[in-house]
Amino acid sequence: MTSSTLPLQDRFGRKVDYLRLSVTDRCDFRCVYCMAEDMQFLPRSEILSLEQLYEIARAFVALGVKKIRLTGGEPLVRNNILQLVENIARLDGLEQLHLTTNGARLDRFAKPLRAAGVTGINISLDSLQPARFRELTRVGDLGKVIGGIDAARDAGFKRLKLNAVVMKGRNDDEVLDLVDFARERQVDISFIEEMPLGQIDEHSRALSFCSSDELRQQIGQHYPLTASDESTGGPSRYYRMADSDTRIGFISPHSHNFCHLCNRVRLTVEGRLLLCLGNEHSADLKEIVDRFPGNQEKLQQAIVAAMDLKPERHHFDLNDAPQIVRFMNMTGG
Ligand code: SAM
Ligand code: SF4
Repeated sequence: MTSSTLPLQDRFGRKVDYLRLSVTDRCDFRCVYCMAEDMQFLPRSEILSLEQLYEIARAFVALGVKKIRLTGGEPLVRNNILQLVENIARLDGLEQLHLTTNGARLDRFAKPLRAAGVTGINISLDSLQPARFRELTRVGDLGKVIGGIDAARDAGFKRLKLNAVVMKGRNDDEVLDLVDFARERQVDISFIEEMPLGQIDEHSRALSFCSSDELRQQIGQHYPLTASDESTGGPSRYYRMADSDTRIGFISPHSHNFCHLCNRVRLTVEGRLLLCLGNEHSADLKEIVDRFPGNQEKLQQAIVAAMDLKPERHHFDLNDAPQIVRFMNMTGG
């Protein structure tokens, strides 16, 4: 029996059918929760080529992965990203090819991404106030991002979702405005609890922590929320409002640990296969694709073997120094 006839499964019986593929660690924003102000990015020689990214995606799909999310860093700053999208979208057996983006380049990219085979887009949006948006992203232009969201709607994507990281005293007063924005645009929205990835000095993650339950109560006072058992294959728990198709999701790594349902792994652009967002367990796939170019069997063997490294759960603690030194842009959020 070849490895490709078996689904990927870890030691705890969890099936892995979702890959988050980071295509770059670079970004045109510097969000305060994601990066330090002054970031060192990887030299070109240390990152996977587009061909290698494709070979790895192909191996995962052969092993039963049904959903791939392209992320980063900012995936739309990677040169020739559309070529990679087209190739991955054609893989037999892949059901969903999604992308997470800061939205700043979507005005140009939305249509070509749809034509190339992307089936859903998540766009990060933490504030609807231009000055605050700039402060949180350090460089971002809110108008461009809203233009990008509208371009994605015009391009006809069925599934569009906004992602907002909420921080106490920074943007927690905008939660209802963000919900209203999502309702007007008829897109979904998820609120994310900030995770302690990488050392930042800009704010205290413990002091700015804002729990999903708090936000759910706040929203529920205006729009009664009904829990939904829908899943999009990711960590969001969804709620519905009676008078809108917009779904409200909560990603709560602290308050509602979702590890027992984890079906995903991440590949960094250096070719490190991370088995868990909150642990350093990893396997080096770059070494395999460098040494054995085009050898799918070796790659699939390494991926299957890596499943045994997947830890049971993460242990995030906002009061300690972060145990995970890699930033989210390196992790592939
Ligand atoms: N640049 C793209 C973007 O911003 O959507 C894709 C990569 S970004 C790392 C993916 C997601 O991770 C974004 O929604 C971002 O808000 C979220 N994120 C980044 N750092 C985070 C952190 N420390 N805790 C929680 N979410 C974080
Ligand atoms: Fe860039 Fe996304 Fe990180 Fe913001 S969250 S700095 S847009 S990678």
